[in-house]
Amino acid sequence: MARQAIAEDRLLARLNEHGAIGATADGGVCRLALSDADRAGRDRLVAWMRELGLAVQIDAIGNIFGTRAGTEPGAAPVMVGSHIDTVANGGRYDGNYGVLAGLEVLRRLDEDGVHTRRPIVVAAFTNEEGVRYQPDMLGSLVHAGGLALQDALDTVGSDGTRLGDELRRIGYAGELPVGSIRPHAYVELHIEQGPVLEAEAAAIGAVADLQGISWQEIVIRGQSNHAGTTPMRLRHDAGHAAAAVAVFVRELALRLGAGQVATVGRLELQPGLINVIASQATLTVDLRNSDEDRLRQAEAELQAFLQRLAEQEGVTITARRLARFEPVVFDPRLLRLIEAAAAGRGLATRRMTSGAGHDAQMLARICPAAMIFVPSAGGLSHNPREHTSAAELAQGASVLLDVVRRLAAE
Ligand SMILES: [Zn+2]
Repeated sequence: MARQAIAEDRLLARLNEHGAIGATADGGVCRLALSDADRAGRDRLVAWMRELGLAVQIDAIGNIFGTRAGTEPGAAPVMVGSHIDTVANGGRYDGNYGVLAGLEVLRRLDEDGVHTRRPIVVAAFTNEEGVRYQPDMLGSLVHAGGLALQDALDTVGSDGTRLGDELRRIGYAGELPVGSIRPHAYVELHIEQGPVLEAEAAAIGAVADLQGISWQEIVIRGQSNHAGTTPMRLRHDAGHAAAAVAVFVRELALRLGAGQVATVGRLELQPGLINVIASQATLTVDLRNSDEDRLRQAEAELQAFLQRLAEQEGVTITARRLARFEPVVFDPRLLRLIEAAAAGRGLATRRMTSGAGHDAQMLARICPAAMIFVPSAGGLSHNPREHTSAAELAQGASVLLDVVRRLAAE
């Protein structure tokens, strides 16, 4: 196998040092967007960018950009990056890998004395995970013009805080107007977060497209009553109706097939007592498909089911959209560049669909964009046991280096 250009130990040292910020007892990381831990992670990143001599800019939604100058002033930059916020029980690699590998790519260019025509930007986008503030991928969405800055700043989080206030509190409400940097191309390196590459012994995933995402919150209102004395036929049971929704979406996904997935990930019942019929249920439904027509069909079938269910059970049901993103097709030319770079390093590649949302899907709205995946051990992610070997991490970063060099010379 060809030698990798990015040194394993240096990349791993950065990932480990950064993963120690917000570290949890079980070996994971908790850096929710705009929390104190996120601030500490941002501070570390900015310090590293300055060490590399990058010009650091923070925009008004807190996205961080570190720019290495090109030889031609004014040329649109090549952008790499991802995010450094995590879910509550996250791992060390999701997001952080793409950002910190970007730094290692620039360090390698410096050491090789390479001066590129185009500037190269390493970006870290705000609130990719969408745990504390929705929608997810918020920072890159604002950058791409898909969400107005003021609406994003006014977003109220799951803990009742206003995003703009928290951004100011941690010192990352920057001066750069959002969307100022329009890249020549964007390439995001990321762990797969699924089992496909490992199962097929492929080192590099060339991500051809990305699933569309539909998130809804469904509130079911029935009537609480005595669990012993209320006859079954007289019940308006919000708990039963919620369970029926969970069963329906699973059967819907299996029936539609062709990559449709469906999940009820949160379900709360009130009053939540053993001997009381639930008066209210609040649940979420996550629907995904890489085919927009089928995703719309899934949404429509769910909507029709909710109407039937409300009549049958004598409950009221309201659905509120939390997020909706259409499927994305990545740039075919960038895909071929990624495959050629991997082949040049003797690495097996596989074209694939991303089942998770990523900042690259937002950047794809304003420039050619693509993603490089590396294997996730056991397919695990959003989990403290998330793992990719140092060798695999270095392989992905080396492919990123080759692709960036090529694009920055254009
Ligand atoms: Zn991620």
